[in-house]
Amino acid sequence: MSALVGGLEAGGTKFVCAVGRGRDIVAEMRIVTTSPAETLGAALAFFKHHGPLAALGVASFGPIDLDPRSPTYGFITTTPKSGWAQTDVVGPLRRALGVPIAFDTDVNAAALAEQRWGAARDVASVVYVTVGTGIGGGAVVNGRPVHGLAHPEMGHARIPHDRAADPFAGACPHHGDCWEGLAAAPALAARWGVPPESLPDDHPAWELEARYLALGLANVILTLSPERVVLGGGVLARAGLLERVQTTVHELIGDYVRSAEIVAPALGERSGVLGALALAKDAVTG
Ligand code: ZN
Repeated sequence: MSALVGGLEAGGTKFVCAVGRGRDIVAEMRIVTTSPAETLGAALAFFKHHGPLAALGVASFGPIDLDPRSPTYGFITTTPKSGWAQTDVVGPLRRALGVPIAFDTDVNAAALAEQRWGAARDVASVVYVTVGTGIGGGAVVNGRPVHGLAHPEMGHARIPHDRAADPFAGACPHHGDCWEGLAAAPALAARWGVPPESLPDDHPAWELEARYLALGLANVILTLSPERVVLGGGVLARAGLLERVQTTVHELIGDYVRSAEIVAPALGERSGVLGALALAKDAVTG
């Protein structure tokens, strides 16, 4: 039987704590995200109560520091979320639990969960992209989440923006018209003056949205060559949008190289906490 491990999905609005073996969860708790001390304290109490654990995986909102040589390794760094900038997440957990802590972004963890147990379980390299209040992207290549100096921030990549066709300046506070600034839900709301869910299916917003999502995905596919792209998030709930994105990506790439399949997530909102458990399992087995 595999070791008992913990998974913590650390989100900006809620923390989901789970203890399990593989993907079989034996205990779970949700905590509303308040201050770091209060929220991490409640999570720690849960893991201590349900332990001892062999390892803990943390799938965190970011940006985060993943460089083990850095003095701020394990920190949430420059987040705009009030009270959470420069917060040490891994340190207090490791000191209190005394077990290996695997730390990664929420979207890298979601990519890992979909690769291990979800919509990409028969392939080794997958990109996970979620389009909602922002655009987040994670990547697993040959079974391992991709890290570098920090971690992928695909949502802030640049895509072509024809200002004659779309004069909207973009909604990203850092970059204006980056991918997220043009195509996440707040951009749709600001461009069209209504929440995206109230735009009818035949509104021109959706053709533009499909094009922007496809432009960003084509760049990701041409850069990383994933075998599969898992594309989800609230904006993708729109009927027909995924199919439009698939068609446009294949038009953009043409027949130059084989292009990844683009599919809906299989794990839905569970991918974060399951990804945290997968990170923990890998920390046990190395
Ligand atoms: Zn940006």
